[in-house]
Amino acid sequence: MEERDFYDERAESRTHTMTCPHCRQEGQYEIGWLVRRKKNQVGRNADERDRAKFAKFQSYMVRRDDMLGCKNIRCRKRFEIAGIQSVAFI
Ligand SMILES: [Zn+2]
Repeated sequence: MEERDFYDERAESRTHTMTCPHCRQEGQYEIGWLVRRKKNQVGRNADERDRAKFAKFQSYMVRRDDMLGCKNIRCRKRFEIAGIQSVAFI
């Protein structure tokens, strides 16, 4: 079995508070994530090794966005997402 047999994947967006490094304005931004939630149980065709791997597996999410556009109309510069990890366990 592959790791992807262990989870259900879904694209979600979450709101984060970010500060633009150019104009220093704080704002709420929607950031896209790929959420990989562990299945309730491992598939029928799993062998013992798969079961052991599945037991240790944790749900996690991967950030899809790297850049944001500032919402301040006098700035509107693009900036890199900083301070939020690109992979997070849930
Ligand atoms: Zn800005």
